[in-house]
Amino acid sequence: MMSATMDNYTKACNYVSRYIFDNGFPLSSKTINQAIYNTIRQRFNLGSQMAQSVIRDVIARYKTVKTQLGKRRVACGLTKTGKLRYTRKTLEYLEKPIKFSRPQVCFQRERDYRLLADMPKTRGLISMTLSSVGAIRVRIGASKRIDYPSLLRTYKSLGAMRLECDRGKWYALIAVEEVIEDQIDPYLAVGVDRGLINLATTYDENGVTSFFKGNEVARVRKHYQHLRARLQAKGTRGAKRRLKRLSGRENRWMTDVNHCLSKTLVSDYAPGTVLVLEDLTGVSRGRGGMGSHSDQLSSWAFYQLGEFVKYKAMRAGITVIEVNPDYTSQRCPMCMTVRKESRDQKRHTYRCSSCGYQTNDDRVAAMNLCELGVEYITGDPKPRITK
Ligand SMILES: [Zn+2]
Repeated sequence: MMSATMDNYTKACNYVSRYIFDNGFPLSSKTINQAIYNTIRQRFNLGSQMAQSVIRDVIARYKTVKTQLGKRRVACGLTKTGKLRYTRKTLEYLEKPIKFSRPQVCFQRERDYRLLADMPKTRGLISMTLSSVGAIRVRIGASKRIDYPSLLRTYKSLGAMRLECDRGKWYALIAVEEVIEDQIDPYLAVGVDRGLINLATTYDENGVTSFFKGNEVARVRKHYQHLRARLQAKGTRGAKRRLKRLSGRENRWMTDVNHCLSKTLVSDYAPGTVLVLEDLTGVSRGRGGMGSHSDQLSSWAFYQLGEFVKYKAMRAGITVIEVNPDYTSQRCPMCMTVRKESRDQKRHTYRCSSCGYQTNDDRVAAMNLCELGVEYITGDPKPRITK
């Protein structure tokens, strides 16, 4: 049924495209509406909004092609002095109408589609109206990294939704509009270290440290670990099913934690702040048992926190940079001596044997990150610590 609407939509696009091609490229929706709007609706069985979308889509495509062509110059004769004369290409250079082949269909918000309320039963559902069958409900696909239903809800205005089919899979692309604060030149560096004991430790240029303790998170994670171990020991089919549900619940809970934490982190600072995070791509901070569920969850959670911070910061006029994590927890922030032994991971302390500076190990990382932020502000686009 979805395919039928898509099919008609694509056919209608090609019909409009042919009309534009045959009639001297009128790119005004008014002209096209007056000429063939009724035909489109009847012949392709499309609602009024859909017919409008078809016209808009086709015009947009022609405009894009027009711009592309305009960039190309073609020889069109000789000048008086015998040099080649050039002209810019126009749509008249097209040999046939632009073809629409990828099945796609465009839905207008509140008319053709709407997001259902955030209630347990309707959460993450989109209701959309198809010309052939009426309203149907579709669940927004789940992603490990992004909670799309929550994400969509954070936007004040949603635009049109485009459905596309690619190799048997359906994709809904929803246009969003958001207000982004003007970017101010950064002037205050803040180091943000992610961890387990402290989910985040921040240190700013003014020397203020904040710890966002992970006790509660550690407690809940232990609880999940315990449940998981019990189910794994059972090994029955029912237990496996419950394990799967459990990990879904754990992920959603962690996502929630990251949402709150990133919000707090970002709201603490004004536009013009540079938050410095470690670039964790390709880094595993797991201790021993690499690849265990716990390690996977924490590296995923660190990554997600970073993404949330970046995304929330962008909207608040705050810059986020990700720097090479080398030596960030080994360099003494006072005398700059890099020594691995200075950090005592078991006791969570840092003690510099050169100058005697001593403090919490997470704070050292945040201090070093802050220092890299200062280097960024003063002109080094890719600051990093070298031994
Ligand atoms: Zn030192």
